Amino acid sequence: MIELLKGDITKLEVDAIVNAANSSLLGGGGVDGAIHRAGGPAILEECQRIRAKQGGCMVGEAVITTGGNLPAKFVIHTVGPTWNGGKNNEEALLASAYRSSLALAVEHQLQSIAFPNISTGVYRFPKDRAAEIAIDTVKEFLNFSSAEIKVTFVCYDEENYWIYEELI
Ligand code: ADP
Repeated sequence: MIELLKGDITKLEVDAIVNAANSSLLGGGGVDGAIHRAGGPAILEECQRIRAKQGGCMVGEAVITTGGNLPAKFVIHTVGPTWNGGKNNEEALLASAYRSSLALAVEHQLQSIAFPNISTGVYRFPKDRAAEIAIDTVKEFLNFSSAEIKVTFVCYDEENYWIYEELI
């Protein structure tokens, strides 16, 4: 099941919210900053432990931590690609970020997950193409998975919200 919401992902009471993190896992601006601010230090501590063990998170991959003080139980940190004109595998890497996050949710038997519009902020991925990839990848995953999971797309900016509303 797919749902669309406009607003702040840190407020959602779901099993997991997805963070558009960077490879260092040490926090940043945008949604990453908002999640660490709202969730408190437990999230960063766990990110640092993962970093010590596996050296961060590669583009297109995902890791899971506690939700700390968030209403969400877990945060799934994934790293979307930086847009560099589109000839550097950006589309496949963005799809992979969504797929890796969903796979972790299934592995942890989660029933609900919420995504921000990965890579469409500081990483400059064109919003319309990013939305198509996000929706197609999620739909395909849900079609092929036996797990029942509710997926919420959370749009923070007006432009993304209208694009998603057109597409869903
Ligand atoms: P990236 O580096 O992957 O581009 P950003 O955090 O810069 O990540 O932006 C990704 C998306 O997250 C943008 O569409 C931005 O509008 C959105 N965003 C920023 N803050 C929040 C928030 N609190 N909740 C949900 N989405 C947010």
